[in-house]
Amino acid sequence: MAPKKKLLILASKLGYQTRGFFEAAEKLGIEASFGTDRCHKLDDPWADGALPLHFENPQAAAEEILRQLRKDPPDAILALGDRPTATAAYAALALGVPGNPPEAVEICRNKLRQREVLRAANLPVPDFFAFDIDEDLAHVLPRVKLPCVVKPLALAASQGVIRTNNREEFERAVLRIRAILTSPEIQAARDPLAARLLVESYIPGREVAIEALLEQRRLRVLAIFDKPDRLEGPYFEETIYVTPSRLPQRDQTSLRDCAERAVRALGLVTGPVHAEFRINEEGPWVLEVAPRPIGGLCSGTLLFGPEKISLEELLIRHALDLGGSDLEREESASGVMMIPVPRSGIFERVEGIEEAERVGGICNIRITARLRDYIAAWPDGSSYLGFIFARADSPERVEASLREAHAKLRFIFSPRLPVEHPATRKMPAEGRD
Ligand code: ADP
Repeated sequence: MAPKKKLLILASKLGYQTRGFFEAAEKLGIEASFGTDRCHKLDDPWADGALPLHFENPQAAAEEILRQLRKDPPDAILALGDRPTATAAYAALALGVPGNPPEAVEICRNKLRQREVLRAANLPVPDFFAFDIDEDLAHVLPRVKLPCVVKPLALAASQGVIRTNNREEFERAVLRIRAILTSPEIQAARDPLAARLLVESYIPGREVAIEALLEQRRLRVLAIFDKPDRLEGPYFEETIYVTPSRLPQRDQTSLRDCAERAVRALGLVTGPVHAEFRINEEGPWVLEVAPRPIGGLCSGTLLFGPEKISLEELLIRHALDLGGSDLEREESASGVMMIPVPRSGIFERVEGIEEAERVGGICNIRITARLRDYIAAWPDGSSYLGFIFARADSPERVEASLREAHAKLRFIFSPRLPVEHPATRKMPAEGRD
């Protein structure tokens, strides 16, 4: 019997997303192992054999992978989430397995560098500049064109991303981001970019996400997701993703073309790509390109081929060259709602799940936030209460089902704030429902 092919999966959190990959690996009869930076102190706290790594220093983490796995190297490496992408690229290079050039991945991970490279390649990006969080705002303000979006260079999932329309809002946003950046979780991540903020012109328009796979430098778009909620700020928590897109074909073509050019300009060559765009009367604008698959449980919206294989399986097939990664997305419309966090507080319970599950088109509701945990609303927080999935014969029906199911759910929060949490201590719990 041929030896099993081996895949190394790098992820900051070992949870529901890694479980999806683990299940797909079992189904395919390949060997999956994990590397994570969830805990720096204990070698194997969850007794699952995951390699403990420090993703904030990608080259050192890659050397550690090489040291540990040289005798039994993986055939491919996949990174989940933004943090491990650079480690994956350096390790792939060192092990001689397919991967993106580390320079390309480093550019993607830094929101400022990504803007610079895309602008230099004539791609449509907002106007931008960066400043140090401790800089005197009297020097920063003259450069700000309003309305603008302020964001930390190092965070993801719209955490700390704030639209401001005037000078006072801008000053308040900077203070607020400063508080987020002093939270223990962010300090623990030790990202050297954490003290820099990016200011960008606000781009109005409709927003889409593109899920794609780079195969021998060719970008194959797996799905274009519409985001039918108006994402106009001041905060940008995601909610609904629906595919196929309802945008006119000509807009979809220009988005595909823009995605292809952006990926080429950044120097990415292989593997999953998740990218965000806005589109308005001037055409598409690149918001972000990341060399990783869609996050959280959202991949559950995508099924491929007659056997309806998962995105995880498709990506493993591609990474290990097992064949069968060329399947197209199945025909039905599908979508997900990342359940918004209505207010910061202790998440006590959720009511109405059974009623919501009975709504036509709803295929699954997963509450992923832990009961009795403190959950921060955006822009302070970065994790959702859970996910609602729907499938139907049209994107309109998918969207309607998601909204109807969500309306039946009641999330109960108690207002207590945690005792010691610098990012939230000074902030009033905020109702956003
Ligand atoms: P993150 O990596 O944290 O998700 P992004 O830069 O992708 O940060 O921004 C998150 C969201 O904020 C975007 O999906 C979009 O809705 C909004 N946003 C960010 N920058 C802009 C901008 N320049 N104009 C309009 N909206 C923006």
